[in-house]
Amino acid sequence: MNIILLGPPGAGKGTMAEYIENGFNLDHISTGDMLREEIKKGSELGKSAEKYMNKGELVPDKVILGMIEMRLKEKAARHGIMLDGFPRNLAQAKALDKIAEIDVVILLEATRELVIERALNRRVCAECGEVYSAKLHKSKICDKCGGKLIKRDDDTEETMNKRFDVFEESTAPLIDYYKKKDIVAIINADQPIKFETAAISGMLDYIKYEKMVAE
Ligand code: AMP
Repeated sequence: MNIILLGPPGAGKGTMAEYIENGFNLDHISTGDMLREEIKKGSELGKSAEKYMNKGELVPDKVILGMIEMRLKEKAARHGIMLDGFPRNLAQAKALDKIAEIDVVILLEATRELVIERALNRRVCAECGEVYSAKLHKSKICDKCGGKLIKRDDDTEETMNKRFDVFEESTAPLIDYYKKKDIVAIINADQPIKFETAAISGMLDYIKYEKMVAE
């Protein structure tokens, strides 16, 4: 099963991905995480991507597509993939059509106000990448690995507004693109995580069953 998590920045794609990847044996592929890893390593790719990321702009398609093609060749991706943060525009979606067949696009719906509030409260573990809300998690230490919780450089109000504009301009057209293929499922991202997870899990269970019957 191959799925795409689509939604504005800060809608909770990464969090949802964490909750569902294990249950469904899906390889979680986040282009944002891959880019942040390159920045951490200090690679040339990371250095050039960082300039776009800090401005809230999209990293050029050529860089992203090269990275994704390599990643999809990895063994883990054979069981099924969960794409998070990719595709981000029509060119990327069309390139993806050539390399993978998508079963469902899960659209996490969230308003600009909600994602800005969430981003300002978002803390990420500097060691393992676990994501927390400063509103719900008062400690500055990661529960999972004891690492220090930090704010992402691009989680400012200004950058979030810019990233939301970029979403509306470049990524939102993908909703119609995938609606025409009849594979979009809409989930309200403004609800407790457990209810959101339950809605997505139920849907994925059904798709899994449907695929099994079709085999
Ligand atoms: P994310 O963690 O998915 O919110 O991504 C953080 C930033 O990485 C974005 O604001 C973009 O600058 C860059 N980025 C991540 N994925 C992509 C992509 N598929 N295409 C272009 N830029 C991306």
